[in-house]
Amino acid sequence: MIQHFQHDVLVIGSGAAGLTIALKLADHLRVALLCKDTAPGGSTFYAQGGVAGVLDSTDTVDAHVDDTLNAGAGLCDLEVVRFTAGKSKACIDWLIEQGVPFTEDPDNTNNNAYHLTKEGGHSHRRIIHAADATGRAISNTLIERVQQHANIDLYEQRVAIDLITREKLGIEGDGCCGAYVLNRATDTVELFQARFVALASGGASKSYLYTSNPDGASGDGIAMAWRAGCQIANMEFNQFHPTCLYHPQAKSFLISEALRGEGAILKLPNGERFMDNFDSRGELAPRDIVARAIDHEMKRLGCDCLYLDISHKSDKFILEHFPTIHKRCLTFGIDITREAIPIVPAAHYTCGGVMTNLQGRTDVAQLYAIGETAFTGFHGANRLASNSLLECLVFADAAARDILANFENTAAPAQAPDWDESQVTDSDEDVIISHNWDELRRFMWDYVGIVRTDKRLQRAEHRIALLKREIAEYYSNYKVSNDLLELRNLICVADLIIQSAMKRKESRGLHYTLDYPNTASQAENTILTPPNW
Ligand SMILES: Cc1cc2nc3c(=O)[nH]c(=O)nc-3n(C[C@H](O)[C@H](O)[C@H](O)COP(=O)(O)OP(=O)(O)OC[C@H]3O[C@@H](n4cnc5c(N)ncnc54)[C@H](O)[C@@H]3O)c2cc1C
Repeated sequence: MIQHFQHDVLVIGSGAAGLTIALKLADHLRVALLCKDTAPGGSTFYAQGGVAGVLDSTDTVDAHVDDTLNAGAGLCDLEVVRFTAGKSKACIDWLIEQGVPFTEDPDNTNNNAYHLTKEGGHSHRRIIHAADATGRAISNTLIERVQQHANIDLYEQRVAIDLITREKLGIEGDGCCGAYVLNRATDTVELFQARFVALASGGASKSYLYTSNPDGASGDGIAMAWRAGCQIANMEFNQFHPTCLYHPQAKSFLISEALRGEGAILKLPNGERFMDNFDSRGELAPRDIVARAIDHEMKRLGCDCLYLDISHKSDKFILEHFPTIHKRCLTFGIDITREAIPIVPAAHYTCGGVMTNLQGRTDVAQLYAIGETAFTGFHGANRLASNSLLECLVFADAAARDILANFENTAAPAQAPDWDESQVTDSDEDVIISHNWDELRRFMWDYVGIVRTDKRLQRAEHRIALLKREIAEYYSNYKVSNDLLELRNLICVADLIIQSAMKRKESRGLHYTLDYPNTASQAENTILTPPNW
């Protein structure tokens, strides 16, 4: 017997966006909060730097707006940027009220009780942080609040498979009314129904071979929204972090930009320094320029990684400034006081996503998208550091307000049928999943990565067409598993990235192509419309 769950609101994802919207709704409505693995899951937990906000009395919303627009390379939506920066203080104050232990500044250096840092691209100190583990502090605090709230049911090990819409049910009208969800613990598919659904399922950086994101960043929310009939925008803008540790067991460990700030040198495998050939600022050039230079040299030499060397500094200096990186690298047999660190750039942030308005509403009624899953127009062609957690908070708040304002006037969800497994069997060929997973992430890295060309994109387009057919067939014949669902979603978002990159005939922000190296005079978003539109 399939399990049925009824709530007022279903929130898919328990990162910063999902936790925030759940807490903001729960005093009035019953909320189901899903997490793919163990809560919180997602990228939020790993965020190091902090949250950007106008907190110093000498800083202004206009200055934050200008910095965001500069980073966004002509593609930010001014109204959205003003809206988001304008709400930054209130949203951060709410986090403080919840008890997030931000690092304090007893000296009030920045006219604020909390310590504020300055990151690349910001003209003021405006990053509030909890030492170098801000995401962990936010996640742990908000999860605790969620667990204390009687109106929130947190469901772990639950993977949303697809959204249920009135259209899919063959009922007149438009609107989302729930989702089918795989319970990984029992291996059964459950039915979650609600009057409103919020996608808060994070980004899609797992489409690439190297990523700083945790395992679940497979773009599920973007793929589900696309299948449900939502427009998706600007998927070609993938932010790559220049330096992630390259080691078979190191999965996704970032080597902070602070190392380069303190004099670490980027080197080729033969020990030669190369950054000066690309930018007069050398190792201190902006993130995207450094990532592009590393990618260029790796492709030119056909090598697996390059190196970042800080071993010329004293042991004392390295241990004092970079204890975590030193310790982590040692576990892989790399002593950074003696040798260079093998690094590769890594997919870090998905600027595009499900198109929403200022309330987080998507094209499908009663369906919202918030956080990294969404495309609000805030980041434009490049994300400014620490603006992403801010966007999660502001849009979770806006969506919660909109849901509360419209709840009474919205009809209860139409009853959906159980998940039908009568035509499928257990898979006897899981190798197809692991093989296609590797193949997809490798060709996305090689052909749709940091530097693109028309030819590379065409190669990727041919391969994705094959994978799409193979996985569609597999999906209709075999029982679902988390790996299969993630692969199906990754193929969908990879296809959206390729289509978007092929449409953009210019280089702008994070999208760089050798065939069109100049920036067009007119800035336009790349909007993809689903076939069932
Ligand atoms: C290493 C690292 C450092 C970063 N540092 C910063 C920083 O300092 N400042 C900043 O602003 N940003 C930073 N970012 C980016 C920022 O952390 C993310 O953009 C942000 O946390 C995204 O939050 P989210 O709530 O949208 O999604 P996430 O935090 O990624 O959460 C996604 C949630 O959705 C769930 N989920 C996904 N798919 C499904 C499904 N099918 N069914 C059910 N649940 C699902 C996951 O289990 C998870 O709970 C960093 C990112 C990384 C990876």
